[in-house]
Amino acid sequence: MQVGKHDNNYEYDLVCIGGGSGGLACALKAVELGAKVACIDPQRGAAGIYTNVGIAYKKHMHQACLLGIGVCQAACYGWNVRNARKLSMNWQKLISNIKIATERVAKTDDRMKYIQFFNGFGSFVDAHSVQVKMTSNEELLVTGKYILLATGTQPVYLKIPGSLEYGITSDEFFSLPSPPTGKTLCVGGGVVCMEIAGILIGLGFNVTVMARSKVLQAFDQEMVKLLMEDMTSRGVVFLQHCLPKSIALARCKRLLVSYNNSQKKDAEEFGIFDRVIWAIGRRAPLDDINISAVNPALNDSEIIVNEYEETTVPNIYAIGDIASGRPKLFPVAVAAGTLLAQRLFSGVRQAMNYENVARAIYTPLEYSFVGLTEEEAEKLFDKNGIVVHHGYYEPLEYALTHHSRNFCYMKVIAKFDEHCPVLGMHITGPNAGEIMQGFSAAINSGLTLHTLFDTVGVCFTNAQNFTQLLNEKK
Ligand SMILES: Cc1cc2nc3c(=O)[nH]c(=O)nc-3n(C[C@H](O)[C@H](O)[C@H](O)COP(=O)(O)OP(=O)(O)OC[C@H]3O[C@@H](n4cnc5c(N)ncnc54)[C@H](O)[C@@H]3O)c2cc1C
Repeated sequence: MQVGKHDNNYEYDLVCIGGGSGGLACALKAVELGAKVACIDPQRGAAGIYTNVGIAYKKHMHQACLLGIGVCQAACYGWNVRNARKLSMNWQKLISNIKIATERVAKTDDRMKYIQFFNGFGSFVDAHSVQVKMTSNEELLVTGKYILLATGTQPVYLKIPGSLEYGITSDEFFSLPSPPTGKTLCVGGGVVCMEIAGILIGLGFNVTVMARSKVLQAFDQEMVKLLMEDMTSRGVVFLQHCLPKSIALARCKRLLVSYNNSQKKDAEEFGIFDRVIWAIGRRAPLDDINISAVNPALNDSEIIVNEYEETTVPNIYAIGDIASGRPKLFPVAVAAGTLLAQRLFSGVRQAMNYENVARAIYTPLEYSFVGLTEEEAEKLFDKNGIVVHHGYYEPLEYALTHHSRNFCYMKVIAKFDEHCPVLGMHITGPNAGEIMQGFSAAINSGLTLHTLFDTVGVCFTNAQNFTQLLNEKK
């Protein structure tokens, strides 16, 4: 046990409000270091499950899409596939098998038994006391020397007539009891919206994406354009610059969605759909945790933290999606939680490195990147201060099929100086996420353009094209 002496003024050394990705990681590391830890969560933590269900469902569904596409293309490889055109999706079976697989792989961890789990909702009484409303309705109070805020965020609904009544969010989508037949309207334009649209089209369902402005605005726009073109070629309809105004039940028992189109002087337009999925963003449940009792500095609904995840209230910390300015990613929350526990209970003062975290967007054509977008690099170093190498490539997987290879593209952005350190790498194509994992380690180790081009590729991988990307963008 490396933790300092337990402070008898409080029951626990650490109380985690939220036992999801970040909160549980922090609690596990803290007990490993000898701290006395309470973890409050209405669902995951208390159930002892150590996996993020939403992400798991999404990734399995993405895999289902890829397999469907694969079956259709298998004939090109000589397989006698009867009736590939009549391929149909058994939604219930997919959902039920994902559930079984997710439960099976959910890790339990030996360290769990040292955490005191409270199966309920936590809310502040003061900076050291948290009221727990147990799911059994019992109420109790726990006190802690340190309090960690790790509640994540919850999907929001647009405040328009019919929104709650007729709309669902990504949380419900992943466990819909019946298949999403008919027409689905996915409102948003962020990653979750694009991924759900990708899953729907990939599984053979009809989908329209509606975005208030442009989709994936914060991402590299050249890559986003390719992604959209690929999705359009698969049948996704994009309505950009459109904002829903109301949803009502039409006489035909389908949903009548009215929306304003800002590119047509806010003209009101209409569409008929069978379901509406809100993917317009997420907010931290600040009222539920009674944040006003402790009053840390906020940025809209997010908690402001410094490099050590400290809020403006000395003993309160925030990590994961609730913390302002942090990449909203599972491994980020886990790493931040683990490091926080180390700082609190082992004296190691290492801050989390939020730079160059790779991420993937799991649309049928995957997009993955690490580091800066071209727009960000130009802003930081000017157009003449960077060098971009790029090119389309032909994945081996597409060589025998009739799959369009027009959207498989990669680029490397480097600072234009003697060493040309790599600032960003982007790729669309099969297994893009897998490819980017290794390159993110390379960038974090100081990868330069010269080293990249001196590297011998692995034949026949798509990743090897990065080592041969000699075409400079003018
Ligand atoms: C649809 C979807 C797809 C995603 N896909 C990816 C992906 O592919 N890759 C990736 O890296 N990230 C992905 N993410 C993001 C990832 O899930 C989050 O970044 C990550 O889970 C954040 O961790 P967290 O600990 O902040 O919150 P969470 O993991 O959400 O955990 C928060 C916990 O707090 C609990 N809680 C809430 N309120 C209270 C309260 N009052 N008291 C006690 N407990 C409370 C909740 O029950 C929950 O268990 C996805 C997110 C969504 C929604």
